[in-house]
Amino acid sequence: MSDLYQQVIIDHAQSPRNQGECKYATHAQTGHNPLCGDQLTLSLQLKNGVVEDVHFQGDGCAISMASASLMTEAIKGKSQEQVDALFAKVHALVTEGSEVDDASLGKLVVLKGVHAYPMRVKCATLAWHTLQAALKKGENLISTEV
Ligand code: ZN
Repeated sequence: MSDLYQQVIIDHAQSPRNQGECKYATHAQTGHNPLCGDQLTLSLQLKNGVVEDVHFQGDGCAISMASASLMTEAIKGKSQEQVDALFAKVHALVTEGSEVDDASLGKLVVLKGVHAYPMRVKCATLAWHTLQAALKKGENLISTEV
């Protein structure tokens, strides 16, 4: 993993962005990665199909917390379709290390190094799978487990 990418991951793991709960949450979901012991609860506010606000709280390894923190920054203001497209790219990035020629990934590109460590892929995708579950479940059905 490049030093620069590693620094961003360490920064987000030590000082996660968007921690806590949304004041006006419409969706919430808890996710768990038993392979590593990572867990997090995602809190979302959607308005007209767009992510207005997103927060998370959790406990886990540096990769899982950094990935969740980076995800909350990346999805704010995006539609569900855009979120789905972004997850597909992140998934390809961490499972295959796919070269990304797309600026839409932004800072999420730092997760590229994860593909060299197959055991950590689930750490990196936990927040995203939790997000998918929250969105699939729909509004006002909050606080069940993945
Ligand atoms: Zn982990």
